[in-house]
Amino acid sequence: MSFEKLGLRAELLSAVAAEGYTTPTPVQERTIPVVLEGRDVLAGAQTGTGKTAAFALPILQLLNKADSAMRFPRALVLTPTRELAAQVHESFLTYGRNLRLRSTVVYGGVGINPQMDKLRRGVDILVATPGRLLDHAGQGTVNLSKVEILVLDEADRMLDMGFIHDIRRIMKLLPVKRQNLLFSATYSDDIRQLADGILHKPELIEVARRNIAAENVTQMVHPVGHSRKRELLSHLIKQGDWQQVLVFTRTKHGANRLATQLLSDGVSATAIHGNKSQAARTRALADFKNGSVRTLVATDIAARGLDIDRLPHVVNFELPNVPEDYVHRIGRTGRAGSNGMAVSLVCAEEEELLTGIQRLLKLTIPVKKIEGFDHDAASAQAYKAERQGEKSFGRRSSPSGFNRRPSNTRNSQSKGYRR
Ligand code: AMP
Repeated sequence: MSFEKLGLRAELLSAVAAEGYTTPTPVQERTIPVVLEGRDVLAGAQTGTGKTAAFALPILQLLNKADSAMRFPRALVLTPTRELAAQVHESFLTYGRNLRLRSTVVYGGVGINPQMDKLRRGVDILVATPGRLLDHAGQGTVNLSKVEILVLDEADRMLDMGFIHDIRRIMKLLPVKRQNLLFSATYSDDIRQLADGILHKPELIEVARRNIAAENVTQMVHPVGHSRKRELLSHLIKQGDWQQVLVFTRTKHGANRLATQLLSDGVSATAIHGNKSQAARTRALADFKNGSVRTLVATDIAARGLDIDRLPHVVNFELPNVPEDYVHRIGRTGRAGSNGMAVSLVCAEEEELLTGIQRLLKLTIPVKKIEGFDHDAASAQAYKAERQGEKSFGRRSSPSGFNRRPSNTRNSQSKGYRR
């Protein structure tokens, strides 16, 4: 299958070719013709599947057909995070570079006035995070009455982040008759309910989930004592001469601390998370992308939707509480056909989380002990000693026991994780 066969116009084909794309990804192959027909879409597709082009290309084509004199937004794309909004907007600019459509992006954390100016000058495509869009709507600086196409990108994450009420308020500002595209990495009852309320006879498109289809991502678990994780990470980065590595921590504080510690180990690092200003987040991402910083330490929310081409290494410094987040995390590597490596540093306390992830993936992640760092007798001893107190609260003590099925998985998310 080629892009030509999907019915895209020459200006879009040349933009796609300039990006070096030769074949459409599965989600593009299935979504583009349906959107061009004007139908609604419910697509199960994660970041890394090429979903942005799957909606951006046909939207550009549809909007290009007619010119709007007023230039009120005719396509509205809602995203959960500022980073994703910025990246989706970039994609519209890239793919639409040979067309005369205007696109802009609005998100919080930066001044509202420049955004107002851009909106005043007129746009065809508006990419927005829900909160800032409502600010503009409240101030009368955006008119959504001409929206023909609505995209909810990473809808599951928008719900996770509590945007449901904002989304509903935005819906009320849109014309009733419009085309709707909903992209979500996961299907939950909440997503189904949202889709039922918004989509009209949608085409259901599901592409192989990256977690299951990600043959080009090598996954690996390194067992390690909790207190030695940072040392092991520095060791892996230096030994392997890893030049670009995205590291996940569970907390903002943990991300900051780890970035500082890596710096003191002589590994260039910066942290990205919700407490940082937008300018700092943008700078951190730019430094990481251009190679001036080797390690980007991120929380799940901050990393969601980051578009970093061919990221070679992802490290789970701590396993996520929710198994699906593991899938999102490792989806950041091995993208669009290139090979990647996803490494998890797992201490004994995280064994149950690992079990949950493996159950979701329906596979056993290979375990590789790194000499000098694994749960040797000494660290197990130390762990035991540290955890003596907890035993009296009835928690199972499990200093070793990798690959062992936990007898009780209920406690895994509620207790006992040191940060
Ligand atoms: P997305 O899932 O939209 O975040 O896209 C993931 C990455 O794949 C982005 O870096 C795109 O530039 C890239 N990409 C999208 N479509 C294609 C394609 N057909 N061929 C190669 N790379 C692509």
